[in-house]
Amino acid sequence: MVKFRSDIVGIDASIIMNPTVWEKSGHVKEFTDPLIECKICHQRFRADKAEEIKEHEKTHKEKVSWTEPKKFNLLLEAFVGVVEPKEKAYLRGEITQGAFVNFENVVSSTRVKIPFGIAQIGKAFRNEITPGNFTYRSREFEQMELEYFVHEKEADKWFKYWKKERIKWYQSLGMKKTNLRFRNHETHERAHYAREAEDIEYKAPFGWSEFEGIHNRGDYDLSAHNLVYKGESEQFTPWVIEASGGVDRSALFFLIDAYHEEKDRIVLKLHPKLAPYKVAVFPLLANKPELVLKAQKIYDDLKKEFNTAWDDRGNIGKRYFAQDEAGTPFCVTVDFNTLEDDTVTVRDRDTTKQERVKVSNLSAHLTFKLA
Ligand code: ATP
Repeated sequence: MVKFRSDIVGIDASIIMNPTVWEKSGHVKEFTDPLIECKICHQRFRADKAEEIKEHEKTHKEKVSWTEPKKFNLLLEAFVGVVEPKEKAYLRGEITQGAFVNFENVVSSTRVKIPFGIAQIGKAFRNEITPGNFTYRSREFEQMELEYFVHEKEADKWFKYWKKERIKWYQSLGMKKTNLRFRNHETHERAHYAREAEDIEYKAPFGWSEFEGIHNRGDYDLSAHNLVYKGESEQFTPWVIEASGGVDRSALFFLIDAYHEEKDRIVLKLHPKLAPYKVAVFPLLANKPELVLKAQKIYDDLKKEFNTAWDDRGNIGKRYFAQDEAGTPFCVTVDFNTLEDDTVTVRDRDTTKQERVKVSNLSAHLTFKLA
């Protein structure tokens, strides 16, 4: 979004924020989940998670009764300053507000014109009632968000546009179409700021689960912070279309989609852009200094361009399997032929096919393949 588009700028806003931001944004009052308590064991749950409630009821022999739902605020408090009592602040419950409170700085320093977007990535914190499902729901997590500022009359158009773009993005990085769907929020489900909300859901082993929300936030936030857009010939409060994704959640789902058990190996078929290592370099034998030296030189050169792993333990087969399991798309082996003709074996993670490539051509070869 930030690198390849000219209508979107990136920022990195603060984590600890003044309480006024969260009062104005409505989070102090409205950023709540409905909490209920099991009257038998006093464990607490979200009233809107029917599956979790059903599962819990099964753990008791007797019929479970629940307390009435009460609003539980998710904001995490922090106490700052050097004078007692310290002042209350909040850890950001969504990275979103950082885009609004920096709105004027962005407009005046980057000269963007409506329609334009502010994108960010960073930690957010919520005092979740029931963290769980691996990294799906935690109290500290990473969000990636776009706030896209538009004219009111074009809000619907951009809402549809970003829905399409975002699902296309997940698919372009390898998520299977059949594991993805949109789910529209009924009016009563929507967050306090949303005029329209559509989740992108993934068919997880624990059921269809949201991992990105596309929202039409109207002019809710900019109005709440008393902000307007001052263009060359116009001044107004833009509407905001938001794409708010979870990095941890999408990483979990990319991993699930990529995981394959084959006859004799486990392989993580991650899209090359997502693979932590793009290439691994091995000397055929760890006890032959001339091979190790040559492999090290290749490793040092590749490292400047790609995230490159090194492995000289065990035999080549085991090293291949270790890299397959970590999702490394290519392995480069330096053998005795390398010392004679300056070629190496490049082995492909998905097909397991091997080819000989000139060392002088290796970087270009990998760049081409990884693209
Ligand atoms: P949920 O209903 O699952 O609690 P939400 O609708 O409150 O999620 P949003 O406020 O729309 O979530 O946040 C945008 C995105 O941030 C979510 O789609 C999700 O990917 C991510 N996210 C929100 N809460 C968490 C969390 N506790 N752990 C990990 N990721 C989260």
